[in-house]
Amino acid sequence: MSQLSSQFEEIKEKNQTINAYITFSDLSDNTSNGKLSGKTIAIKDTISTAGLRTTCASKMLENYIPPFDAHVVSLLKNQGATILGKANCDEFAMGSSTEHSAFGVTRNPHDLERVPGGSSGGSAAAVAGNLADLALGSDTGGSIRCPASFCGIVGLKPTYGLVSRYGLIAYGNSLEQIGPMAKNVHDCALLLECISDYDNRDATCVNTKKIKYTEHLDDDISNMKIAVPKEFFGTGTDPKVEETVRNTIDKLASEGAIVEEINIESIKYSLAAYYIIAMSEASSNLARFDGLRYGLHTGKSKDWNELFSNNRKSGFGFEVKRRIMLGTFALSSGYFDEYYIKAQKVRSIITNDFKKIFDKFDAIVGPTMPTLPFKLGEKLTNPLSMYMSDIDTVSANLAGIPSISVPCGYSDNLPIGIQIMSSHFEEKTLLNLGSKIEQIRGFDVE
Ligand code: GLN
Repeated sequence: MSQLSSQFEEIKEKNQTINAYITFSDLSDNTSNGKLSGKTIAIKDTISTAGLRTTCASKMLENYIPPFDAHVVSLLKNQGATILGKANCDEFAMGSSTEHSAFGVTRNPHDLERVPGGSSGGSAAAVAGNLADLALGSDTGGSIRCPASFCGIVGLKPTYGLVSRYGLIAYGNSLEQIGPMAKNVHDCALLLECISDYDNRDATCVNTKKIKYTEHLDDDISNMKIAVPKEFFGTGTDPKVEETVRNTIDKLASEGAIVEEINIESIKYSLAAYYIIAMSEASSNLARFDGLRYGLHTGKSKDWNELFSNNRKSGFGFEVKRRIMLGTFALSSGYFDEYYIKAQKVRSIITNDFKKIFDKFDAIVGPTMPTLPFKLGEKLTNPLSMYMSDIDTVSANLAGIPSISVPCGYSDNLPIGIQIMSSHFEEKTLLNLGSKIEQIRGFDVE
């Protein structure tokens, strides 16, 4: 047995506890020579892989085998990466804990009784638990950064338009990006280099100059201007999270960064605006899953109305149905102006506020998540408290700016992530600061 296939057997064994993967690939060692040769990778199950089942963690797509690769997947294959399988997530990427999967919950490798975060929880748990070297996630409102923070790894949501969404099964298409997850900032930068590539099959993809992110990790950070918004330490923030993040910011200041506390008044509206926009887009994007065009087909019915209802009733889980209904409501005539249009106006205000901040500052820093990883089941019956955990991540998606989560400490053996945001297409600043944090935080991620 080759080294890779014996490693694969061990991974399958470990997966019985962690449940990071929904489907394993037919392992074939990738012999292409590239930047990712010899690296194994887990792909979130919302990203299409030719010939490899792609379920979005939903019964609706339980038997769906895409006939094509997402653009990012072709890029990975060309760069020599070995795809191990499809990572578990919340159904259609809706959630913050990976408990809303039709294929069972994923467990946090740091504490098996706790959630790995979500929705890309399988991707993060695979990397943190040594079930893959690297992973791809998708982030609509925090789904890369939240599980990166909870599992003690690095995760980056790119600028909207930097990475092609071709082949990403849509949830909130105006908000989401595919992004890299890895144990350290270098590998995260390397993976971002491989997947940021112009693709005309995604009309929102921007043709920008290619940047070698790995070459900017040791740039000097002295005199870099960092803003710390008070709002990111609001009520509900665990004091241990606050202390660890503030300590890390102090260390950046001792390295020469210029740190200033600021206010972003509009941030208090970000969660409400995000959920209205995301659910509205979800209700539209998921309309195609009716069992005739796409998805589960339940069999005979008396008319198409009943057939569509039966298919959607059996195919979708509880949280997805809730969001389709709320999104449909927000888009219905009579309520459209009051909810959807108002949310879009708030989105513009938030985007402008960020723009003004980045006229003066290079980066914004705060916690990724307000709390430590919570217990399995703790928030499942209270959707509002689950939504509240996205309070610090959604604004980057509304504004389309890039954002990274980097491990900065532990409390009770549970990881804490620091979040850094920068102006559009300034990923190199995030990775540069992230790499500095790795040098000054005083521990390694094994
Ligand atoms: N937790 C957020 C939501 O449920 C974000 C999900 C995501 O980024 N895909 O919408």
